Order: sequence, then structure tokens, then C-alpha cells
Amino acid sequence: MILIDNKYNCCGCTACASICSHMAIKMNPDSLGFLYPQVNSELCVGCGLCDKVCQFYEGYKRYNNYETPMAYQFRLSHDEQLKRSQSGGAFFAIADKFIANGGVVYGAAFTKNWRVTHQKANSSHTLSALRMSKYVQSDLRGSFTQVKEDLRKGTKVLFSGTACQVAGLKSYLPNCLHDNLFCIDIICHGVPSPQIWEDYLAYLQKLRNSKIVKACFRDKRFGWHGARESFLFENGKEEFRRTSNYLYFSGFSMRESCSVCYYTNFKRVGDITVGDQWGIPKDSTYEDGKGLSLILINSEKGKYLFECAKLKAESITLQDCIQPQLEQPSTLHSAHLRFVRDYETKGFLYVAKKYGNLGWRYKMVYVIRALTDLLRKIVQR
Ligand SMILES: Cc1cc2nc3c(=O)[nH]c(=O)nc-3n(C[C@H](O)[C@H](O)[C@H](O)COP(=O)(O)OP(=O)(O)OC[C@H]3O[C@@H](n4cnc5c(N)ncnc54)[C@H](O)[C@@H]3O)c2cc1C
Ligand code: SF4
Ligand code: SF4
Ligand code: SF4
Repeated sequence: MILIDNKYNCCGCTACASICSHMAIKMNPDSLGFLYPQVNSELCVGCGLCDKVCQFYEGYKRYNNYETPMAYQFRLSHDEQLKRSQSGGAFFAIADKFIANGGVVYGAAFTKNWRVTHQKANSSHTLSALRMSKYVQSDLRGSFTQVKEDLRKGTKVLFSGTACQVAGLKSYLPNCLHDNLFCIDIICHGVPSPQIWEDYLAYLQKLRNSKIVKACFRDKRFGWHGARESFLFENGKEEFRRTSNYLYFSGFSMRESCSVCYYTNFKRVGDITVGDQWGIPKDSTYEDGKGLSLILINSEKGKYLFECAKLKAESITLQDCIQPQLEQPSTLHSAHLRFVRDYETKGFLYVAKKYGNLGWRYKMVYVIRALTDLLRKIVQR
């Protein structure tokens, strides 16, 4: 039976819990809200399926995926639609066509309480909830069995998520149900803590004395490269903050397993991979801050999806799209352990002030940086 005595060995995909027909495994949150399997030894019969299904290791299965993907860059032509996608809108273009052809799509969306979970869309309207990046690990509990039910009924399913989630789902499903399954994985920097996200929102709502009615992790009104999050409150006020506020980019609150991620390469598990196409030449017309998607076609099924969507995409080389998350895992901050200990004993506000950008230390650094930049400009004149 599966035993996680080292957090670096589990990405929280839920495949082990989903495959256990004896209901012996529960996915339980740790102090940061990340889910880990816990086995009830009284219910376990020792069949070993949970160990076999786990794909979080170097030799993960790739089925019939190409050795090397074909790369494209793409942007939705409609400006309003483009604003509603984090990159160039590749996910929406493919998923919308998939639904129009009678399929259903799974992806990460907010709940009413701003938690991030995987949800199903079967219309253009419900698909909109799956759009845009949510920088929190999405809770997959119950999703794999729901996908299995859909496939059993003969429904075509497009599942989207991080590469480790896609690898877990494919391994969980029996081969006989793979024909109608299509997968999109996203290029992934690593997933931040769901519990810190929840604490951060509670802090903001208390501060503004109003409920949040809209949240966005990277608001495109500040450009594609911009790192500004936005919150709309019930009282009509809107607030913009630096995206690193809840400690994501600093690497403090990332899941441990992301720092040893096996999927940060071109050996993709999805049929299609989507990400940001950061490798745009400076003089390109795409360098206008509106966003550009990178698309990797990884299998015959991926090619089929791409052709069905009739995307006007430009072929590029793999060299053109290389980025750190296709070369090596992100690193956890060296003070990660201290951060977690402080969070467990002293709470969100304490760590947000000490390690994040809510306190005076961050404000001082910010002011000093701004002054240094100003001085440099004056000297250069
Ligand atoms: C945590 C995270 C880190 C990322 N890091 C990088 C990176 O380092 N480099 C890079 O090139 N791209 C990264 N991306 C992907 C990128 O930001 C875009 O999501 C992607 O290019 C798709 O954009 P789009 O315009 O095609 O569609 P969008 O509509 O913006 O994409 C939505 C898609 O993202 C999925 N998604 C959103 N949030 C989550 C989540 N929490 N968990 C699982 N799936 C999610 C949805 O299911 C859907 O498939 C990251 C995304 C996330 C969520
Ligand atoms: S990576 Fe997935 S299958 Fe493996 S132990 Fe963690 S939750 Fe279970
Ligand atoms: S060994 Fe079998 S019964 Fe025991 S937890 Fe794993 S899947 Fe369940
Ligand atoms: S970095 Fe790797 S392990 Fe972490 S969520 Fe992304 S794909 Fe999964």
C-alpha cells in the first residue's frame, strides 16, 4: 500500500485514492492545504494497486506520445476573447470546438468560496469558468471517477490540468477507456498553497470589510507580462496588488514535489501542451503585451484536436520555445522549512509580513529600489 513518508514523493494527483475500490485511501490536507494520501490499514487488503498506479517518478508512462513534439505559436484573433485567456487563448480555442463537437471538458475553476477545484464544462458558457490561470493547486477529489463515468457512457472527454494531474488520470483509467480521452497539459512553474490562498482572501475581506466577488491572479489589463492580481469587492471597490502577495513567486508556499517535478521537459504526457510563448523576438508584432500561446502537439490525438479546432497557428522550432519550466523544476526558497514552521505556529499575517510583501520590510525594499532606479535614470541622462 502507498506510504508517503516524504512529501517530495507525492504531487497529490489522487490516482491512488481513486483506484482503491476498498475506499481505504483518503486525501487529507497538510497545514498548507496540500492533499496527501492516507491509508486506513483496517480497510486495506494489500492488493498493491495504489502503488502501481502512481506516476510520480522518472520513468512515468508516455503511452504512444511522440518522442519530440511539434511546436506552434498561436493567438486568438478576437481581442475581447484574448483578454479572457491567460496567454494566447489556445486552451479556449481547442476546448470550445471540442464541446461544439459533443464532448465535455474538465479543468480548474473557482468554487463559490474561491477554492480551486476541477470542474466539468459542457457549453461555451460553463467553459468560461475554466479559463485563466489559478495559481493554487486544484483539488481533484472526485474528478477522476467522474471522468471515468463519462467515458463509460461513451462521452468524449477533454481533460486539462498540470502534467502530473494528466499522468495520474491516464494511469488510473483502464486502457479500454482511453480511446475517447483527450488531454491538455499546461507548462507549469509549480503550484502554491490552497490554505495560504484561503487565508489571504480572508485577510483582504476583513481589511476591506466586504466580500470578494471577482478574483484574478494576473490581470491582463496590466499587460501579459504584468504581475498584478485584482479583486472586486461586493461594495463595488476594486483593488490591484502585486501577484507575489500571497507568496507564490518567492517559492515559499510551493508544493514540495514541484521542486523535483519529473515533467519539466519535452517528454509530455498530454496530447497537447499549452503554455506562454515567451520566446518572441523583440521586434515581433506579437510583442504588444496581449499574450501568445505556445502549443506542443505530442501525439496523433493531439494532431487530431489541433486539426479539428482549425487553428491559424505558426510553426516554430523547439529552440524558439524553450523556457526554464521545460528544462528543470522550479526551486523552493531556501527558507521554505522555516516559513512553514512560522506559518504553523504564528499564522498567515506573521509570515506575510516576514517573508511576503505585506509588511514594512517589503515597503522599504520597494522604496529603495524605486529610488535607485530613479537615480540611475538621472545619472544616465
Ligand atoms: C500554476 C500555474 C503555473 C504556470 N506556469 C507556467 C509557466 O511557468 N510557463 C508557462 O509557459 N505557462 C505556465 N502556466 C500556463 C499559462 O499560464 C496558461 O495557463 C496556459 O498557457 C494556458 O493559457 P491559455 O491562454 O491557452 O488559456 P487559459 O484560459 O488561460 O487556460 C486555462 C487552462 O489552465 C488550466 N488551469 C488553470 N489553473 C490551473 C490549476 N491551478 N491547475 C491545473 N490547471 C489549471 C485550466 O484547466 C485550463 O486548461 C501556468 C499555469 C498555472 C495554472
Ligand atoms: S502522486 Fe498521486 S498516485 Fe502517487 S501517491 Fe501522490 S496522490 Fe497517490
Ligand atoms: S493496497 Fe489495495 S486496498 Fe490497500 S490501499 Fe492500496 S489499493 Fe487500497
Ligand atoms: S510543477 Fe510538476 S509536480 Fe508541480 S504541479 Fe506542476 S506538473 Fe505537477
